[in-house]
Amino acid sequence: MDRPNTDRIMEQQHPRQTGVAYCEFCREKITNLNTAYRKVTGWEAKRKVGGTNAIRLRVPSHEWACTWCIEKESKKVNANQGGLFV
Ligand SMILES: [Zn+2]
Repeated sequence: MDRPNTDRIMEQQHPRQTGVAYCEFCREKITNLNTAYRKVTGWEAKRKVGGTNAIRLRVPSHEWACTWCIEKESKKVNANQGGLFV
């Protein structure tokens, strides 16, 4: 009865669980930062043909977003661009 619940203590002190982040769009608490999106700034080099533009000197911000909101916002952006990606 006096024995502490070590499993629970380990969980609470887990480094990935100590950072608290909230989604910039829906303000919901993000419980798993490993699957969330993090806003970054950096230097983009435009590529002439295909592929993803490379971002160098990437600087992570403190802004996070949940997967659901990123999907939702992405669709909005695509719609505004005249369905380029549809
Ligand atoms: Zn969200």
